Amino acid sequence: MKNAATSMAKIFAVTNQKGGVGKTTTVVNLSASLATMGKKVLLVDLDPQGNATTGSGITKDELTPSVYDTLIGQASLADVIQPSAFGHYDVVPANRSLAGAEVELVSGEQREYRLKQALTTVHQRYDYVLIDCPPALNLLTLNGLTAANKLIIPMQCEYYALEGLTDLLQTIRRVRAHLNPGMSIEGLLRTMLDPRSSLAQQVSLELDKHFPGKIYKTAIPRNVRLAEAPSYGKPAIHYDPSSKGAQAYIELAREFIERQMGVIRDKEARC
Ligand code: ATP
Ligand code: MG
Repeated sequence: MKNAATSMAKIFAVTNQKGGVGKTTTVVNLSASLATMGKKVLLVDLDPQGNATTGSGITKDELTPSVYDTLIGQASLADVIQPSAFGHYDVVPANRSLAGAEVELVSGEQREYRLKQALTTVHQRYDYVLIDCPPALNLLTLNGLTAANKLIIPMQCEYYALEGLTDLLQTIRRVRAHLNPGMSIEGLLRTMLDPRSSLAQQVSLELDKHFPGKIYKTAIPRNVRLAEAPSYGKPAIHYDPSSKGAQAYIELAREFIERQMGVIRDKEARC
């Protein structure tokens, strides 16, 4: 049991090159939901926008030690980790200085592996590490994808969603070929769902054809509480626990853990 648990996939990059699809909302609310279930979670903010940082109740001023200091080799991850203000998970914060890392690392050694290396020193303290990637295919995203065992891909169920996925799949193929052969898709998460829209149903069916078994049964509805919570520095379950959005992320956390348990059971069965 112990061996299975320690070898289980635990570093998850939440990624989609398309902007505004709910990556950050998912990272913050899934982290907080897993924490309420007793899991130890580390959230890594890899986006210079720092939205996961402020959404976790941490200021993103440039004096706060951040993931930038780690990527350029000036601080260990342990030195930059902070507790979230309300969510009972830990955070590696980001701020605008991270935008500079892109330039500074261009000629750096092992530049795509910086986050992966840094995580080896802390990941055994956590059940799950969730990485919030920026909406671009840049060196920061490559650090996230290289550090991850698995990818969680949030997407809006709209007509262009599938088109955007083509780019993402190409990126995944390239990362697997050159940087991280073991990485794979954990799940596709439908976000900002309007259940009355027939387009959403059509896109869900189409997704299921291309990614059988990968789509989370739980979909996140469009819910204004999810959009309001970050301005209070709180995950939705601490801002308005009974809201539909908060409840959906709790449900997602349950499904997420169940899938992880399934992975462990499969491994044990094979032993
Ligand atoms: P970016 O690509 O810029 O990093 P993102 O993919 O991280 O964006 P979010 O920041 O999570 O996306 O969400 C984009 C906007 O939509 C935010 O204002 C957020 O509060 C809002 N939002 C996210 N999910 C929902 C939802 N289920 N219902 C309502 N609003 C949502
Ligand atoms: Mg974001």
